[in-house]
Amino acid sequence: MIKQEEKNIAAMSYVLANKVIVVDPGHGGRDPGKIGVSGVPEKEINLEVSKRLATVLGEMGAAVILTRDTDIDLSDTSVQGSKKRQDLSRRAELANERNADLFVSIHCNGFPGQKEHGAQVFSQPNSPESKILAKCIQKEMAVILGNTHRKAKQVDYFVTRTTKMPAAIVEIGFLTNPKEDKLLQDPLYQSKVAWSIAAGIIKYYEEKEKSRENSGVNEKDVLKTFQQQPGNHIPAP
Ligand SMILES: [Zn+2]
Repeated sequence: MIKQEEKNIAAMSYVLANKVIVVDPGHGGRDPGKIGVSGVPEKEINLEVSKRLATVLGEMGAAVILTRDTDIDLSDTSVQGSKKRQDLSRRAELANERNADLFVSIHCNGFPGQKEHGAQVFSQPNSPESKILAKCIQKEMAVILGNTHRKAKQVDYFVTRTTKMPAAIVEIGFLTNPKEDKLLQDPLYQSKVAWSIAAGIIKYYEEKEKSRENSGVNEKDVLKTFQQQPGNHIPAP
């Protein structure tokens, strides 16, 4: 007998099979990102969570590309100009060149004062698909982590404007909040965050699947039509 858990994993693998997902650990190398109240640089936490997310998505059948897997930035030292912009451009180009299905960038938030807390997901305005993706991830993070009441939000960012596929920036928590700063450095919590983002991505694909079924081109209907009216052409999906 198949255990429920195995069934769940089989179902998840189905929605992520053949999907190319770019996981982008924000900052790196010369760019530390925000500095936590404890002194931890954002780039380190982003990388830890991104690696875990890549592993989980890979186990679920996706082909995962990490924009970096060490402490580097992606700017070109031989070219003049803004290193920050070059770094961000390269991340987006990587996803576009590989024709990725999804782009997910991992960051930590910061705010003056220590009160603000909770993960929040951002997507590009005027991208309905990205909005659904951001909402799905936000919802799963809220349920699984149980410590954010924030809502997914549309904001114009260079990297999500430049990527051609549905994209989201996940701000996994506030490094300016002492409690969250500590939590985000906990390997177990990092795994939980990664898992919650993966769950959101699965929900996104499940929703897409559902809307495709509801659009009337589901396989069973096509088959029924074919059986009831032999000789007729099967309508193109
Ligand atoms: Zn950042």
